[in-house]
Amino acid sequence: MKVPLHKRRNIGIMAHIDAGKTTLTERILYYAGKTYKIGEVDEGTTVTDWMKEEQRRGITITAAAISFKWRECEISLIDTPGHVDFTAEVERSLRVLDGAVVVLCGVGGVEAQTETVWRQADRYNVPRLCWVNKLDRVGSDFFRAVRAIEDRLGVRAMVLQLPIGREKEFRGVIDLVRSRAVYFGRGNRDLALREGPLDEALEKEARPWREKLEEFAAENSDPLAEKYLESGRLSEEELRVAVREIALANKGTPVLCGSALRSLGVQPLLDAVCDYLPSPENMPPVEGQDPRHEGRVLARRPSPDGPLTALAFKVTTARHDDLVYVRVYAGTLRSGKRVYNSRRARKELVARIYRMLANRREERLDEAGPGEIIAVSGLSHTVTGDTLCDAAAPILLEPVQFPPSVLSMAIEPRSQADRDKLTEALAKLAKEDPTFEVKNDPETAQLVISGMGELHLEVIKNRLLEDHGVDANVGEPRVAYKETIAAQSEAEGRVIQQTGTRGTFAIVKLRVRPAPLRGSVAFLNQLGPHKIKHRFVAAAEEGVLQTASGGVVTGYPLINAEVALVDAEEHPVDSNDAAFEAAASKALRQAVERAGAVFLEPIMSLEVVAPFQYLGDILGGLNSRRGVITHVMDRGDLRVVAARVPLSEMFGYATILRSLTQGRGTYTLEPSDYQPAPRKIYERWVV
Ligand code: GDP
Repeated sequence: MKVPLHKRRNIGIMAHIDAGKTTLTERILYYAGKTYKIGEVDEGTTVTDWMKEEQRRGITITAAAISFKWRECEISLIDTPGHVDFTAEVERSLRVLDGAVVVLCGVGGVEAQTETVWRQADRYNVPRLCWVNKLDRVGSDFFRAVRAIEDRLGVRAMVLQLPIGREKEFRGVIDLVRSRAVYFGRGNRDLALREGPLDEALEKEARPWREKLEEFAAENSDPLAEKYLESGRLSEEELRVAVREIALANKGTPVLCGSALRSLGVQPLLDAVCDYLPSPENMPPVEGQDPRHEGRVLARRPSPDGPLTALAFKVTTARHDDLVYVRVYAGTLRSGKRVYNSRRARKELVARIYRMLANRREERLDEAGPGEIIAVSGLSHTVTGDTLCDAAAPILLEPVQFPPSVLSMAIEPRSQADRDKLTEALAKLAKEDPTFEVKNDPETAQLVISGMGELHLEVIKNRLLEDHGVDANVGEPRVAYKETIAAQSEAEGRVIQQTGTRGTFAIVKLRVRPAPLRGSVAFLNQLGPHKIKHRFVAAAEEGVLQTASGGVVTGYPLINAEVALVDAEEHPVDSNDAAFEAAASKALRQAVERAGAVFLEPIMSLEVVAPFQYLGDILGGLNSRRGVITHVMDRGDLRVVAARVPLSEMFGYATILRSLTQGRGTYTLEPSDYQPAPRKIYERWVV
């Protein structure tokens, strides 16, 4: 039996690394009856961290999708990685989710990566609730975490629970909405929860917090304001409805607490997901372009009878068939039926539809409707970011944006006999991971891989061996420089040869424009309908993207640019795909040369945490590495330094910081953006 749409929840769990997402996910699966034994991160036996690499490192790398029932709801949950090198996974899950649980550590509170994922979720306008974890730990402090949520994340916290007992004594929560005390057993599902009325002491502690919550609810609703003024109290149901409305409008964030490791507070968190996070119905209709009418925007509501509208957001390659993860927004996806991939302009067969439990195909489905997140086999041409729809009512959803890679390494097989196997395995990994690229360097005839950081590339190398049986050597990490354009310009590319029996004919006119922060090149088709055949548009796009990724002027990939196809001509007999690819490539080269190429280097956001006495040395060290300090903050006796530093200056920083601070400093580094490189860098790498 399918649950009605308003009972569906598509939820992500996001957090700083080590905040406890994976431990929490395991507890959730246990209480939801999906597993019979609780897996432990520390023993490498969790369900979601299924890749060998994840089990060894105890971190989450690929977002795993899991669906389960809780109360009357069906919850699909995506566990997202906390390490910045795997930011692509976070971006793509945000795109298809309706709400998120942000897990914080009760000791560390809001950490650098918590802020990063918060800002990412802001960009997608995803309603959230916060769960303060690890309240069993010495040094944890729920109220300090609540203050940090308000100060550092800049949101209004709606505290819905208070912890009962501190640190080792932490044993339950006060439910402020229901005015009840809830205590938790250990592990065993039947004994897991015991609740009762608040005794006098707990009542006294709860009162000011409940009043605060009621006042905030009243402030945000006129009818409640009236009732609150008259009676001085709101009912449980009124409060619940008000908190939900405020959370969905992103005007405030519910805050709950617990300890994943000790299985405290997990069931109330799931209740809160049902009560306070949105269903697909609460989200605005999904919008996309009409591929048949330039500039026309279509909006689709989540109705199962409407035209199919679905986004492919992830691809995993397996030995026999690839699985494409799909979120359906409108209409119904049916197995055994053809769908239209509007980005590739071709039809694809949906062979089978699966509900997934992490990497396992849990159940075969005949169909999937609005709001469902499922995996599909049989789609051989669909990649991440493609739209699946009805051929009779096509729509093109905005693809998921991924940041450009910042680091490259040469890679070669340990034995030359493995060369083909290596190329094939790398191609598969690149298909799964849009922030990972493989290229042939024509000058050195070497294979070069690029990604988001050293950890990312190391994981790729280990997966090559473990999943594909290819042993490879990698070279030193190098900065992945890029190029962009300084101004707008236009150019025309012609490939015409009309002698002999079969000629070639293609004319393509492109306009290039700087698009700061856009990431990889965006291709726009601005031709009227029927100007040229759709497959020639696709061929021109292919030519543009190929040429851009190989570098146009400096030999480094073109980014942060928008390329529009503004005019084109075809010949009824002589035109073919190859001619349009070549013409587009020619036009792009000329347009970029005219616009002027700019050489870019990746800039990183750096956060260093160290005892105060090392501050001077840290700042001095950053100045000499072209770093720009953005702020310095106190955290007890520690100083937190945030800075922007070119990646090329950061090699070996771990060792340097260790010796500067006698091993007491730590840092996190994440890609921020690309900036024009100084002349001496340009000369070293390009001229
Ligand atoms: P993730 O990186 O966010 O997925 O975090 P994990 O779930 O892998 O947890 C990181 C570490 O924190 C592991 O050693 C867990 O055992 C530990 N941990 C998780 N939750 C709690 C908790 O509630 N209390 C305590 N004391 N430790 C926890």
